[in-house]
Parts: sequence; structure tokens; C-alpha cells
Amino acid sequence: MDHQLCLPGGPITQSGIYLAFHKEHRTPHEILFLEGESFPTCNTCNGEVRYTLKHAAPHILDDNDFH
Ligand SMILES: [Zn+2]
Repeated sequence: MDHQLCLPGGPITQSGIYLAFHKEHRTPHEILFLEGESFPTCNTCNGEVRYTLKHAAPHILDDNDFH
């Protein structure tokens, strides 16, 4: 599950740090995504970018001790 590749346009089902893999123009890098949004396309490689969850990090609004 953690190593599943996510496509741009697909739903983000877990908040956390993801790795973004681009088509040649950029080395993989970390990026934070929040649950409930959609994975974006890249301005350079468009729909060729892929994402995989590196470290899940629940949003504070989903933690019962903080609201
Ligand atoms: Zn790109």
C-alpha cells in the first residue's frame, strides 16, 4: 500500500509526506499532501508525474485531542 503509485487527478486518501516522481526533468522529491484533495498534475511533465506515500501524517483536524 505504501509503495503504490498514485496518478495525478486521483483522490488523496491519506495526509502525509509523499514522494513525487517526474518524467526526467526533476529528481524525486518530498511533498506534503492533505487528505480530501486530488493529486495535481505537474506544470512541466503534466500527467507523467507519479506519487507514492512516504510517511503518513494525520492532519490536526483529524485528531480528537486537538479540537
Ligand atoms: Zn514534472
